[in-house]
Amino acid sequence: MKYECPKCKGQLKYWVEVLSDKERTINKSTGKLNKKVTRSSEIELEQEGIKCTKCDFYYYGNLNGNDEKHEHLDAIFENLS
Ligand SMILES: [Zn+2]
Repeated sequence: MKYECPKCKGQLKYWVEVLSDKERTINKSTGKLNKKVTRSSEIELEQEGIKCTKCDFYYYGNLNGNDEKHEHLDAIFENLS
């Protein structure tokens, strides 16, 4: 089994949706937002998949992010081939 794009045999990337807040402090006297933006730490969501770096191939699905070794990717590739 080859872990390559089923359409163009290009390099694939794994992606996962993350949730993060952009945070700005509020000035105590003026109520204006500080220009400096910080980001909260990211929370990984359930949506993840694989996509190709060369063509428009895009696989979108819940791959079960609890699997840290990403062994579930094998099942995806078996379905694709
Ligand atoms: Zn491709």
